[in-house]
Amino acid sequence: MKKLCVTAAVCLLILSLLAPVSIPAAAAENPQTAESPAGTENPQAATNTNAGQNAKKKKKKKTIFIAAGHQERGISSRERLAPGSSATKAKLTSGTSGVSTGIPEYKTNLAIAKATRKALRKAGYKVIMLRNTNKCPLSNQQRTKKANKSGADLHICIHCNAGSSGARGPLVIVPASSRYLGSKIYKKTCRLGSSLISAVSKSTGKRANATIRSNYYTTINWAKIPTVILECGFMSNPSEDRQLNSASYQKKIAAGIVKGVNKYFKKKY
Ligand SMILES: [Zn+2]
Repeated sequence: MKKLCVTAAVCLLILSLLAPVSIPAAAAENPQTAESPAGTENPQAATNTNAGQNAKKKKKKKTIFIAAGHQERGISSRERLAPGSSATKAKLTSGTSGVSTGIPEYKTNLAIAKATRKALRKAGYKVIMLRNTNKCPLSNQQRTKKANKSGADLHICIHCNAGSSGARGPLVIVPASSRYLGSKIYKKTCRLGSSLISAVSKSTGKRANATIRSNYYTTINWAKIPTVILECGFMSNPSEDRQLNSASYQKKIAAGIVKGVNKYFKKKY
């Protein structure tokens, strides 16, 4: 028994000495930035050696917090726009609705969020949903705080837009500066925004609208993890409204989000 313990201790010592040498520094620090974004695509490489097993244990699935925007009604009382700011904004707006379908945005957002959850899970990510029903009486600030505390790596807010009847295509909203987020999260957020918008534009076949860079979004200002607002399309456009409410187009958006998230994790930073 004692001999076994000593042997085990020696083994552990050897392993602990070997481990830092066997695992490349970048991979040890951020094991999922390389080929397999969610840590599930190349299990073979991780099973051959002890170092590989250690690396596999470290390969926690990347987690994406998906927030379907709005809920069945808005909350008109106010909350602070940003940490350290005295400016306030309505806690939650009610969102738009489809000009041809008449469907409220919160329902469309949830349908797209659910399609996105399915696609992300299939790609090996862990997904946390802000809401699974149309009842979620949390303010924008509370929603972001929930995402911050969830342990997720990224926070993607799903919305649909309103504008002219001819407006079309996706759009992403990112912060205008690092003022409320700090430069590290700010840079990551901008990178996430550009990865997502180019992938969703490609998957839907629609040209992306110019990215909105603004410090006037409560949802983004309170973030401690990269948080972007993705406007999937315009419900004020009769044909795009019908597309946004069709399962096939929702799948295209979801596929674009997965590609954008993959691209984000594969880049070194
Ligand atoms: Zn919205």
